[in-house]
Amino acid sequence: MDLRIVLLGPPGSGKGTQTERLVEEFGFTKISTGDLLREAVRNGTPLGKEAKGYMDAGKLVPDDLVVGLIKEKLEGVKGGVLLDGFPRSLEQAKKLEEFFHVEMAVDLDVDQEVLIKRLTERRSCRKCNAVFHLEFNPPKVPGICDKCGGELYQRSDDTEKVVRERFATYTERTAPLTEYYRQKGVLRSVDGMGPIDEVYKRIADVVREG
Ligand code: ADP
Ligand code: ADP
Ligand code: ZN
Repeated sequence: MDLRIVLLGPPGSGKGTQTERLVEEFGFTKISTGDLLREAVRNGTPLGKEAKGYMDAGKLVPDDLVVGLIKEKLEGVKGGVLLDGFPRSLEQAKKLEEFFHVEMAVDLDVDQEVLIKRLTERRSCRKCNAVFHLEFNPPKVPGICDKCGGELYQRSDDTEKVVRERFATYTERTAPLTEYYRQKGVLRSVDGMGPIDEVYKRIADVVREG
């Protein structure tokens, strides 16, 4: 599948979860800015050092840093691409256009009370970034990743306080992208409520339609 897709949707809407499955079925190259930034923080790189404060506060990392990262990762990539968590501002979307043509923007729609419960009980794999949920998608063995056996942990920004800040950031900076991509004629809104498998079917149908 050669489509070039961006996944929109608020924190906790299921972008990472659905990306994992779409990659398995359609073979997209996945680029997740959240995963890349957390890796940079873990490795203590100059980018990580600069990004950490913003991430801990639930704010966006400055556009030029993130755009540079995406540009580097997209270099030489062929075939279908799925961008998870990028762009997150109009500025990023406009810069992205200079070197990448977005053919479809999938927007996951989920009520806010549901998002809080999803995020505060999310568990992530330190090794492969797979995501689980204590209640809605529990690992087979508590604390251990089903996919790679890695250790599961709770992200430091998945506390209720930072989550609320991330929602405010989303509303102010990211939500306008929906209208932006609607006007370009590439927006596909998908109901992100309900079980993971059901949401996946909705998204996979939209992707197959192209
Ligand atoms: P979630 O999956 O919960 O939406 P992410 O893992 O995508 O969260 O992002 C975590 C944090 O990383 C964000 O709160 C933000 O600080 C930073 N980040 C991720 N993507 C971007 C981006 N495109 N622009 C700026 N900051 C970003
Ligand atoms: P995002 O990348 O958009 O922040 P995630 O894919 O990490 O969202 O999902 C956030 C949390 O919600 C994870 O713990 C995940 O297991 C869980 N989750 C994702 N989709 C659903 C769903 N449809 N129903 C219930 N829980 C879900
Ligand atoms: Zn893992």
